[in-house]
Amino acid sequence: MAGDQAECCSFCGKPAAQAGKLIAGPKGVGICDVCVSTCGRLIDRERAREGKPTAAAAGPALQEAPAKAALKPVKLVAPAALRAELDAHVIGQDHAKKVLSVAVHNHYKRLNDRLVQAAGGDKSDALGEVELDKSNVLLIGPTGTGKTLLAKTLARMLDVPFAIADATTLTEAGYVGDDVETVVLRLLQAADMDVERAQRGIVFIDEIDKIGRKSDSASITRDVSGEGVQQALLKLLEGTVCNVPPAGGRKHPEQQCIRVDTSDILFIAGGAFVGLDRLIARRAGTKALGFIQGGDIPPTLTAEQVLAGLQPEDLFSFGMIPEFVGRLPVISVLEPLSRDALVRILTEPKNAPTKQYRKLFALSGMTLEFTKGALDATADRALALATGARGLRSVLEGVLLETMYGLPEHPAGSKFTVTAEAIRGEKPVTVAAPAAKSRKGA
Ligand code: ADP
Repeated sequence: MAGDQAECCSFCGKPAAQAGKLIAGPKGVGICDVCVSTCGRLIDRERAREGKPTAAAAGPALQEAPAKAALKPVKLVAPAALRAELDAHVIGQDHAKKVLSVAVHNHYKRLNDRLVQAAGGDKSDALGEVELDKSNVLLIGPTGTGKTLLAKTLARMLDVPFAIADATTLTEAGYVGDDVETVVLRLLQAADMDVERAQRGIVFIDEIDKIGRKSDSASITRDVSGEGVQQALLKLLEGTVCNVPPAGGRKHPEQQCIRVDTSDILFIAGGAFVGLDRLIARRAGTKALGFIQGGDIPPTLTAEQVLAGLQPEDLFSFGMIPEFVGRLPVISVLEPLSRDALVRILTEPKNAPTKQYRKLFALSGMTLEFTKGALDATADRALALATGARGLRSVLEGVLLETMYGLPEHPAGSKFTVTAEAIRGEKPVTVAAPAAKSRKGA
């Protein structure tokens, strides 16, 4: 009815003709576009103060997480195929490879099942309605043994965004440091801020052992970088819609946030857990056979023994809280790298360090070779550095620095040979002029 038509905004009184848009309610009531956005802002501010999500004021780029039903299922890759790809890049670590291949396969199987459930569900049998739990992974192993490399290789193969976050930079909300949501921001950045893609990504959280509870006894000071961070990470690991500050760092109430659902993000946590084997040996020893007597230092356990003997309580005594350990149900222990493994890492993987240096030399028209002795000597020096395979690269970089510095001065086709003496710094890298030229000169 014409009499029911709103003639002006019932809130600010602006006449319909002057308002950009006037939304009509019943009985001649109306609200103009300006008042709508003012109300939106007020509601947002209120919600932010209460710590609730603030989607209403979000611009087009800051929308709600898209409905799951609209998403396409992920192409499943069989565990054996995942494993084969890991073999091409990572030496050894058989158990971790198998565990990760199965966990990743199951994770994306679960994700696809959730899409089916969201679209109405498969009611064909009794299992159709069973909800699958997330299979976040905990990788325990010394530094430089391939924890990050394993996660990175899997993400590349699956063509999903991958981000590495450092647990040591995180603190509980309200303290100096980064909010846990920055972990998700890294993933969002890796996905070019595409929320949908980020929601299916993989996050590797490094140095997870460094956020262990600082002390067993109750303390008057809050443990903001230890237990506080574990508490804050719980929800993310399990799956929640979180508000990610686009600029990272610390959130503040007036800030517009990007809403990301972490339910389908796979979290892989890695840490060295130095001394975990001693904890296990001590517990097993005192409880079972009493083979540790009067403060004897327990023997170092192999990765296999650690895995076999590991109980959640060992991680608790390392400072991890039970709820946190419970959200990382898939566990693997990586082996420290032996001398043989280090030699293989130097030459076998697709991007092995010696292959990379040979390519760098080839790009200048030169040949580079390593003797078997040089490979052994490099492994020995890396072992002494105790930084795992990371040491290999720094040893080679140091040895080849002078040669690479003077490389352009050599005639194209020169052949460089790295020997064990060169690695130990006893002799320089040997160089032979190109064969054709030396014949001409003779
Ligand atoms: P971390 O266990 O500390 O996460 P990374 O995975 O970052 O160690 O390894 C550091 C570097 O050492 C990698 O870039 C990779 O080149 C090399 N590396 C470590 N472990 C292995 C391995 N098992 N096989 C092949 N390369 C490895």
